[in-house]
Parts: sequence; structure tokens; C-alpha cells
Amino acid sequence: MPICIECRHPVKTLWTQYSGAGDPSSGHNIRLTVCRNCGHFCDKYVEHDFVVLFIDLVLIKPQVYRHLLHNTLMRDGDRFDPSIIRLGVLLLLFDVYLTWARIEKQTMPDTSPGQSNLGRLAQQPIVLQYIFFLILCTISTMAFHLSIRFLTSSPASPLSILGILPRYSRPNSVSTALLVSSSTKLFPILMVIWEYDVPAAARSLGWAVVANNVEALRILLDCKYYTACFLAISGAAARWAVGRAVLMTAGLGDVDSIGESSVAADGKALWALFKYARDWAGRLAVG
Ligand SMILES: [Zn+2]
Repeated sequence: MPICIECRHPVKTLWTQYSGAGDPSSGHNIRLTVCRNCGHFCDKYVEHDFVVLFIDLVLIKPQVYRHLLHNTLMRDGDRFDPSIIRLGVLLLLFDVYLTWARIEKQTMPDTSPGQSNLGRLAQQPIVLQYIFFLILCTISTMAFHLSIRFLTSSPASPLSILGILPRYSRPNSVSTALLVSSSTKLFPILMVIWEYDVPAAARSLGWAVVANNVEALRILLDCKYYTACFLAISGAAARWAVGRAVLMTAGLGDVDSIGESSVAADGKALWALFKYARDWAGRLAVG
């Protein structure tokens, strides 16, 4: 059953269609339902296009998450919406590209400038290298999803045993929430166009994805912030550990694996950003 995205009150329909709706000359003839509980339109996003949705998603507006998770993508019997499977594949391929680029760019202290730090892997044909990164990203993404699905939906989950979080019986909806909220990851497409080499940008993007994940979990499960944070951190830890294990197996133990949040690097990135801002402020003061 759909809900009002402003107050979560369940509603029968989100809009009413009037006669002549099929006639192109008479426009749409759709009227949005007004919520009886709060007096707002139940779901204003019904009329908005994808660009508006994506921008509001990046801005972490709770209403857009409720629209997507409760009113649009929620299927009977907890089936995946086909568009979510496409989004998942897109995110995975994008992850492969970003991980590959990041690991290749990392400079190791004991390698000479022209030498790649991928070691043995760099001598393999490019297809094999691609398959390696595809496997790495697939397994780490699965670890991320499965650990959070276990914590939210399994009867053996410590959270439900301790009574912190009631068991949520729709694990595929949890994955949907995680995928939708990870779509901020697609943002660096713009950065590739503008040739970004700013570590601060990449790092803050990593944190933006985490913030989106937390918000989506909180809205879907209707739980406290610290519970959602705990879920997101557990997922990230599982992903990191599994990624690390795959890299060690491949003899790339020295490489900083998924490396989204090494504290030292974050500190450095923030410091660079701060210095940059200070330089700018100085320049403005002089000018
Ligand atoms: Zn309402």
C-alpha cells in the first residue's frame, strides 16, 4: 500500500485519473491525492521527472526516498524492480572502473615511477585484469549487501535478538534501498569529464554515499540514526575485509584495497581542502 511521503500515513491511491485521460489533446487529467492526515499532496514526485528525483536524492531529501522505496519500487512478494537490477549492474561496472583506476594510481614507496604497483597482475592480458577487478568488486559488493541483509532480516540477527531492531521481512527491499542510495557514486562521471585528480573530492564523495546509505536505511526500516549508522558501518567493514582478502589471495596485500576511508588519507584530504580555502580567502582579501 502506498504512503503519504510527508507523514507516512497509508493512502489508497496517489492520484485520481479523470475521463479523457487517454486523449492526447486533453492533457493528462490527473489529480494528485491530498493527504487526509497532513493536508499536503501525498506524493508530489509522481509528476516530477528523473532529473528532479536524482537531484533530490543527492540532497538526501527523505520524501524522495519514501517515494522511491515505498511508492514506486516496492513490489508484491518482495521482488526486485527490473530498473533496480539495471542500476545494480551499472553501479558494479562503475565500481570496477573506479577501483581499478584508484589502485593503479596509488604510488608505492618501493616502485620506480614507470613501474605499475599491480605487480604480477600488470603482466597479464588486459581482459584478465578486468575480470580480476570485476570479481573483486562483485564479491565485495555482495559482502556489503549480505551483511546488512543478515542484520536486518535474519531471525539470527543479533539486532533482532537484542530487540534493537524488529526483524524486517523484505531483504530485497533493503538491497533496493542500498542500491538507490548508492547512486551518488555515479557522480564522478562528471569528474571524469572535468579530469579530477583531487583526492578530497573522491573522499567526500565516499562519505556522501555513506550518508545516503544511512538515510535510506533509516527511512526504510523506520529506525534510529545510530542503528542505521551501525548497519552501514557493518556493511562497509564486511566489504573492506572481503576486498582485502581477495587482494591478499592475488598477492596484492600491500595495496590499500577498497580504501574508502583510511583515516590518515581523510585527514590529509580535509587539510588540503582547508589550505585551498584559506589560499582563496587570502587571495580575495588581497584583491
Ligand atoms: Zn500526509
